[in-house]
Amino acid sequence: MSRFLNEELRNLEPYTPGEQPKVVGRLVKLNTNENPYGPSPKAAEALANADAGSLRLYPDPDGSDLVAAIAENCGVAPAEIMIGNGSDEILAFMFMAFGKRIWFPETSYGFYPVFNDVFGCEGHEIPLEEDLSVDIEKYKGVPGTVVIANPNAPTGLALSLGEIEELLQANSDTLVVIDEAYVDFGAETAAPLIKKYDNLMVIRTLSKSLGLAGLRVGWCMGCEDIISDMKRVKFSFNPYNVDRIALAVAAAGVRDTEYFEATRGRIMATRKRFIAAMEELGFTIPDSKTNFVFARSGRIAGADYFHELRKRNIIVRYFDKDPIRDYVRITMGTDEDMDLLLEATEEILKEAGK
Ligand code: PMP
Repeated sequence: MSRFLNEELRNLEPYTPGEQPKVVGRLVKLNTNENPYGPSPKAAEALANADAGSLRLYPDPDGSDLVAAIAENCGVAPAEIMIGNGSDEILAFMFMAFGKRIWFPETSYGFYPVFNDVFGCEGHEIPLEEDLSVDIEKYKGVPGTVVIANPNAPTGLALSLGEIEELLQANSDTLVVIDEAYVDFGAETAAPLIKKYDNLMVIRTLSKSLGLAGLRVGWCMGCEDIISDMKRVKFSFNPYNVDRIALAVAAAGVRDTEYFEATRGRIMATRKRFIAAMEELGFTIPDSKTNFVFARSGRIAGADYFHELRKRNIIVRYFDKDPIRDYVRITMGTDEDMDLLLEATEEILKEAGK
């Protein structure tokens, strides 16, 4: 640390991304919830057709064509959408705009407390229930913004649309932000409630169900006033936050609903089969509505299981903190990836003599 760093940033603990090996090679990479099938061929085509010469021009700061594609898919108006450089950036803008006093689950996406600290917000972390679920009763009537990942990460558990609506009604004078990074893998989106509630923001990403994590595109939806507040922040920070190539590739990806349906269906089918096989091996897994599962073995400690898998070139994610120390988070890869993991797991349990 240099002696020049602003004082309030000296104790900041940055977000730790999951390992991103330089060469994936023989590795089975199941640690950052990427999509094993990658983007739509239409997105690949848009990338191949990208015009390098056009890069002398700044991109459309509103991303109007991408916004139109999202509006059509989600059934909201273009004025109810803003795009960003990954949903991480959207979350950052949200904390800047609305996060002065903010409530979120203590066990959730690791970036919430980091944004809270970097933007000097007054964050309140609410512990999960014993079964790792989020109890919305604890968020009702809090005097500030609520942000909840639904489904939650890293647990994979989802709230119902009814519960979200109850929360919106109970907090009608404060903002409720639903981070739907994983919603396409079996949960219910709150997007239709935007027309009905002016205190709702929904955040989405192209990184998971659309297989475009490397492109860095996300978006938020809300009533026009909320979106105009978000734009006030974005246009005070980086108006050209999504580049020209990303805009074109993202729009093509969003429009290919056929590919989207096919690949998310495959991932959910893999999840079902994988959970059954892991349960056979004695693992306990909360009901996942995401492209990952959160698994606990009664026979081997979470940290040991993580390290043993890593030795066998399989990377999953481990969080060394309560109350999730016994679990590892495993991204759904292809069926072949999951078979390799299952084989390794059997071997690890056998070697552990259990
Ligand atoms: N929200 C949640 C709950 C996530 O797990 C992630 C991905 N790590 C994000 C948001 C951010 O995704 P991205 O910036 O790739 O859109």
